Amino acid sequence: MNRRQFLEALSLSSLGFMALPSLVRADEEDIASALFPVPTYTGISGTIVIVGGGMAGVTLAKYLRLWGGTGVKVTLIEKAPSYTSNIMSNKVLTGQMTLADLNYVYDTLKNHYGVQVVSGTVTGIDSGDQTVALAGGASYGYDRLVLAPGLEFDLLDGMEDAKEYDTDIPHAWQAGLQTQLLRDQLLELKSGARSGDVVITIPKAPYRCPPGPYERACVVADWQYQNNLSSQVIVLDANADILVERDNFTAAFNGAHGYTVDYRPGCKDLKIVDVMSRTVSYVDVDNKKQNVTAGVLNPIPPQRAPQWLADAKLYNPDAEERSVPVNVLSYESTRVPLVHVIGDASLTTQPKAGHIGNQQAKTCADAILRLLQNQPLDPAPVTNSACYTPITATTATWLSAVYQYDAKTGTMFIPSQHNGGGAISTSEPSTDNYKDMQVWFKTLMADTFT
Ligand SMILES: Cc1cc2nc3c(=O)[nH]c(=O)nc-3n(C[C@H](O)[C@H](O)[C@H](O)COP(=O)(O)OP(=O)(O)OC[C@H]3O[C@@H](n4cnc5c(N)ncnc54)[C@H](O)[C@@H]3O)c2cc1C
Repeated sequence: MNRRQFLEALSLSSLGFMALPSLVRADEEDIASALFPVPTYTGISGTIVIVGGGMAGVTLAKYLRLWGGTGVKVTLIEKAPSYTSNIMSNKVLTGQMTLADLNYVYDTLKNHYGVQVVSGTVTGIDSGDQTVALAGGASYGYDRLVLAPGLEFDLLDGMEDAKEYDTDIPHAWQAGLQTQLLRDQLLELKSGARSGDVVITIPKAPYRCPPGPYERACVVADWQYQNNLSSQVIVLDANADILVERDNFTAAFNGAHGYTVDYRPGCKDLKIVDVMSRTVSYVDVDNKKQNVTAGVLNPIPPQRAPQWLADAKLYNPDAEERSVPVNVLSYESTRVPLVHVIGDASLTTQPKAGHIGNQQAKTCADAILRLLQNQPLDPAPVTNSACYTPITATTATWLSAVYQYDAKTGTMFIPSQHNGGGAISTSEPSTDNYKDMQVWFKTLMADTFT
């Protein structure tokens, strides 16, 4: 199977992966036996530096070596010793998973695929010299640079310091200590150590994982119900309506979680009035100012590509840009040559999601290997986004969309949006979906990290 056929198989299968029976069973032994050897010589050579060892960056590093062979020198620079998956992290809030369950290391990338993994924080790039600079003074040269650093989080109006997210009002939109803090605060509601409602705020789109906040409202509401708590989940949404899986979430908010979730769309001018008392204000759809005091406040802030990407002129905050415009045939920046951006930090018509980051990485790997050989880019890439959403502790929905390249606009689009095709589909909550969700997650993470 050549790279093109492999990409097609990935994109066209319903979950975006080859149907590898061993991976679908996904226990450790099977995953190990599914590892592919890195070819020693393919005739391709080059030095690629990748910043960010998350969903997009790790997939890219692996597939560059797998398809490009040992002549393609790949260096991955990552600031954390290991990766904590955001995907499934809402289940940490309900105690169904732990952060340790979501931890992934870089051993296979180093030991099997021969990627040089550097521990460090990138602070800037010099696109003239073709180098990246790390805190502490080291620098790395590249033929092509790929940035996959994810997102940074804005301070909400009324906040003084980002540390308030770490100590009092966790957003937990980057899985880690804040996820544990939010879990602990929910447990305090259960023990009676704190009282009041859970308030979740949703920023205006685009943000990371469009269904994620609605999913969080559902699983927290379900957890409250299971634990006989009378508190509510109040959702203050800056968007005019539920953004994705509208039917599924509307049914959940009015049905299974009808007594617990209070969904309020169209909230404007959200402000943190007081961190310590967890009070927020907003202007409602009738233009009335409202104050809400929470027992647990979970403000999900607006997000943007890290500032050092703006400093490198990859995007322009003064023009209201919040992530990096790219050519989706290669994910190369439309402004800075030889620099590619994949995952959440890129600006495309695809959602900011881990599954899409994995898919973008494969398109990018294929494009870089072609560019290193002076070959034309694939003119018709296809990507697939699948998302499973737990609605309760035992049921889940799913959404799947296939994106194709539109040469006229230079964007990825869902065919059904153009001509009534059926490239987007959803499923109502069920226990079967919940089981499939676990297979999907294991398969995605195995494809990325093993
Ligand atoms: C609660 C929640 C649920 C979600 N559920 C789903 C889901 O069901 N399906 C789905 O597809 N997506 C889901 N997502 C979204 C998904 O997690 C993200 O879209 C995905 O992680 C983005 O991948 P990325 O590689 O761009 O960034 P990340 O995965 O965030 O990785 C970025 C990496 O870059 C590193 N880094 C950052 N800056 C630097 C630097 N300066 N130097 C060195 N390293 C750096 C970071 O440490 C990190 O390891 C969910 C997100 C959340 C918050």
